[in-house]
Amino acid sequence: MARATAAFGLYSARGVCILRGVSTQSASNPNSPPVVTVIGAGLAGSEAALQLASRGHRVRLVEQKPMARTPAQSSDALCELVCSNSLRGASLMNAVGLLKEEMRRLGSFVIRAAEQTKVPAGGALAVDRERFSALMTEWLRAEPRIEVVSEAATEIGDARPIIVATGPLTAERLAADIARRVGAEQLAYYDAIAPIVSAESIDWSKVFVASRYDKGESERDQRAYVNCPLTKEQYAQFVQELRSATKVAPKAFEDVRYFEGCLPIEVMAERGDRTLSFGPMKPVGLTDPKTGRWPGAVVQLRQEDEAGTAYNLVGFQTRMTWGEQARIFRTIPGLESAEFLRYGAIHRNTFINAPRCLDETFQLRQAPGVYFAGQITGTEGYVESAAGGWLAAHFISRRLAGAEPELPPLTTAHRGLIVQTQRNPDDYQPSNITFAHLAPWDGARLQKRAKYEAMSHRALDDLQQWQRREGLAASAGGPDGPADAHANRAMMPSANSH
Ligand SMILES: Cc1cc2nc3c(=O)[nH]c(=O)nc-3n(C[C@H](O)[C@H](O)[C@H](O)COP(=O)(O)OP(=O)(O)OC[C@H]3O[C@@H](n4cnc5c(N)ncnc54)[C@H](O)[C@@H]3O)c2cc1C
Repeated sequence: MARATAAFGLYSARGVCILRGVSTQSASNPNSPPVVTVIGAGLAGSEAALQLASRGHRVRLVEQKPMARTPAQSSDALCELVCSNSLRGASLMNAVGLLKEEMRRLGSFVIRAAEQTKVPAGGALAVDRERFSALMTEWLRAEPRIEVVSEAATEIGDARPIIVATGPLTAERLAADIARRVGAEQLAYYDAIAPIVSAESIDWSKVFVASRYDKGESERDQRAYVNCPLTKEQYAQFVQELRSATKVAPKAFEDVRYFEGCLPIEVMAERGDRTLSFGPMKPVGLTDPKTGRWPGAVVQLRQEDEAGTAYNLVGFQTRMTWGEQARIFRTIPGLESAEFLRYGAIHRNTFINAPRCLDETFQLRQAPGVYFAGQITGTEGYVESAAGGWLAAHFISRRLAGAEPELPPLTTAHRGLIVQTQRNPDDYQPSNITFAHLAPWDGARLQKRAKYEAMSHRALDDLQQWQRREGLAASAGGPDGPADAHANRAMMPSANSH
């Protein structure tokens, strides 16, 4: 049995919602402010909804709780932190610390709630998870511009603008609709993440640059890979280490059936002594200039960013623990002092091939008005997801005000999130924010920590100017940061029309 609702299409008796036929203007009152639909009240959707409301937009926030939960959720509160209670490092010497400081200056509600519910955690920002979610839920439910609708969306439907922020465990029927829209091959259900190391931590005296049989049209293609050569003995030892390493156990809901094309390296090591040397560690066609011969095996590194500040270990997706990855991968010649910007991983993770499907404002290229935000775009982590929600809300808000948004500067961590979603379309994998997503440091030569701090200060200066250009109230980043988001309301054309 289905019933019709005023403006939002059909709902089955079991509460399943098909978002359909919703226009941005209310049918009864053409002067009422536009409605923005947000599906998913997690980190991204909650931030987006509060940002939009604070700028005067009406929001319909569709969340499947309490009718349904993802297998990782354990409460009915909105904006739930499903695992760790940490929003990670707070220092400006790490990229997520910079991202959080930018969010604070941009008036993020997630950061404000985190500040109000924080618990001691050394150099990290950790929160009391129940109080955090309770506070966000309270803000969302108290905001008169936000209508929280408890429904499981099964389709994107026709409502515009809409933000899809349903996260890494997007409910199946909605995921099927997304796959239909973007193409099944553009939607992944598991990630297969290879580690990334910083270029400056590679021992360049031990590695050589070459592509297999020097293939490639341009000289750049021919020098596309950095090769870490292993002797036969080093390779045999490496395989033994992989076999005995501690691995992360799959979650109860993860039915990990690996694709043959992206097996974890430890699974390949289990299959036979030579499996890896016929797979990602294949040495054929790679002549080491030091010996004039092909090595016993090779670990190939591929440049991750245009400036060559970071390299990924090609084909090295893995479920080994981070500690084991650091220990074992540092036995690879050339990587003895490797700084890991990202560790390898494989989890259940619904995400779209953002570089293929989305433009730089997280809008579906083939369907203007449909935006994606949070982990489903291939960013990773609570903080990154909330920042993605802020960005999507900002882009929509600017467009509803009749202006084309300017992207944040390339030096900022917010732009770094956009850069992440535009890179590597042929092998797109989720990532946390890293300094390799930001414009490289071009000032005086500095030690690593000083350089990261200098990059952060550069980002915050540039952010402030961008805020002015975008008509956002600049905040000194005080404890009342989000009050500035409310201050923005005064500048929005729809601010007084609610
Ligand atoms: C098991 C697990 C552990 C994790 N641990 C960590 C960690 O420790 N630290 C960290 O930083 N990140 C962790 N993550 C990643 C984390 O999930 C994300 O960083 C973050 O929650 C993503 O935010 P999001 O808003 O994109 O999605 P979510 O926070 O997952 O929010 C999505 C929301 O959409 C709702 N939803 C889904 N489908 C529908 C639908 N069809 N209709 C309506 N609502 C729907 C969900 O109920 C949910 O509330 C973990 C992920 C998993 C799966």
